[in-house]
Amino acid sequence: MQYQYALERYSVSTGSEKESPVITSTLNRIPVQEEVLVLGGGVAGCAASIALARKGRRVTLIEREPTPRHKVCGEFLSGEALEDLHALGIDVASLGAVPIDYVRLAAARRAAEAPLPFTAASLTRRALDTALIAEAIAAGVRVERGRSVQALSRTTANVWQATLDDGATREAPTVFLATGKHDLRGYPRPEDPERWVAFKMYFRLAPAQAAELARASELMLYPGGYGGIQPVEGGIANLCCVVQQRHLARVGHRWENFLAKMQQDCPHLAMRLAGAEPLLAKPIAVTHIPYGYIRATTENGLYCIGDQAAVIPSFTGDGISIALHTARCAVAAYLAAEPAPLFQAKLRSALLAQMRLAEFAADGLNNSFARAVLPFCLRVWPGVMGVTAKLTRVAQHAAVAPMQAPVEI
Ligand SMILES: Cc1cc2nc3c(=O)[nH]c(=O)nc-3n(C[C@H](O)[C@H](O)[C@H](O)COP(=O)(O)OP(=O)(O)OC[C@H]3O[C@@H](n4cnc5c(N)ncnc54)[C@H](O)[C@@H]3O)c2cc1C
Repeated sequence: MQYQYALERYSVSTGSEKESPVITSTLNRIPVQEEVLVLGGGVAGCAASIALARKGRRVTLIEREPTPRHKVCGEFLSGEALEDLHALGIDVASLGAVPIDYVRLAAARRAAEAPLPFTAASLTRRALDTALIAEAIAAGVRVERGRSVQALSRTTANVWQATLDDGATREAPTVFLATGKHDLRGYPRPEDPERWVAFKMYFRLAPAQAAELARASELMLYPGGYGGIQPVEGGIANLCCVVQQRHLARVGHRWENFLAKMQQDCPHLAMRLAGAEPLLAKPIAVTHIPYGYIRATTENGLYCIGDQAAVIPSFTGDGISIALHTARCAVAAYLAAEPAPLFQAKLRSALLAQMRLAEFAADGLNNSFARAVLPFCLRVWPGVMGVTAKLTRVAQHAAVAPMQAPVEI
């Protein structure tokens, strides 16, 4: 099967954008052992590294990309995500984030809108990840970029060893696993039975459409999936969508055909994209998204965070918030000497209800009857969107309280 798009790991550049400079701390001589190794320098990995370094811990962060790249993500930052980012010292407004006040739901030939029950924003992942890595370096984290972790194993009961792409190793008693959508060999998450495929493409919308989209996040429903479009910094819009592979097969696995089919099924999207200019040569894409997954167990000294801990359905726009939340909780647990297996089990119970509700709602979105009636319901009861948004938010406050008595790890 030949895919007509670039998978995320081979993410594309628009050609018109300058790459951010590489801010790699060159380590001539790595100490044999670090206090903490963080694997993956996305949202969760950076957040955990910053918090640990600020508490005086010696942290090495390993990120496989040499510079932040576009990632498949709707780039919606919920109120909770904004609070966590603020606490980390990230001022999204100064990075050009667009405030989002409304959510619009479009399905079949109907669309309806409702105000969001919290302040939200929208910012490209490239800008966000760049700021987070810079903040980690400023906090004193040793950042190794362009280095991919190939394997993770235990040398002794108390020491983890990460093997990098060139065979070099890094050791530490504690590891934070934050490789996001990408599983490390030996630490797989379950199969994704629906075989979801996600795409992201940037567009420059026609002026009238850009004006209508301003400050809104639009969710569009179609058979086999859903998509979102919203403005991001720089006057452009992000279209991010998911579809089950069997529906993609019906259009020959081709992005152009899928885009045309989405517009046919959801005329609201066709209206938004009329006269729009695509800004990437190809969409970026990612497969294998185990929606609904929550990690139940781990080993001593291995804290799993972000998408390695839990994967919430994308329509909630809550994945970044969960990544930040799980990083914060894991750092608190580590500092309180809470064993990783206990932390992971408590995190699971704290997230379970929210995840199951989000899954239930996602199943509803994928139902043809729901697609027909949802925009109508939203019109007569706009509060339903607010209620759904609130119920699918992560609980922020001490949902995973560290144990009182310090325990040897
Ligand atoms: C279609 C879609 C739309 C979404 N839309 C939204 C949204 O609008 N709002 C929202 O809040 N969430 C959204 N999410 C979810 C959100 O993107 C993730 O939940 C979030 O990025 C998870 O953060 P993370 O730190 O776990 O992973 P990431 O941010 O993906 O970071 C993982 C990092 O690990 C690195 N890495 C991977 N493997 C290795 C390795 N072997 N060695 C070294 N480094 C490695 C990667 O390069 C990457 O930088 C969406 C997800 C999808 C699929």
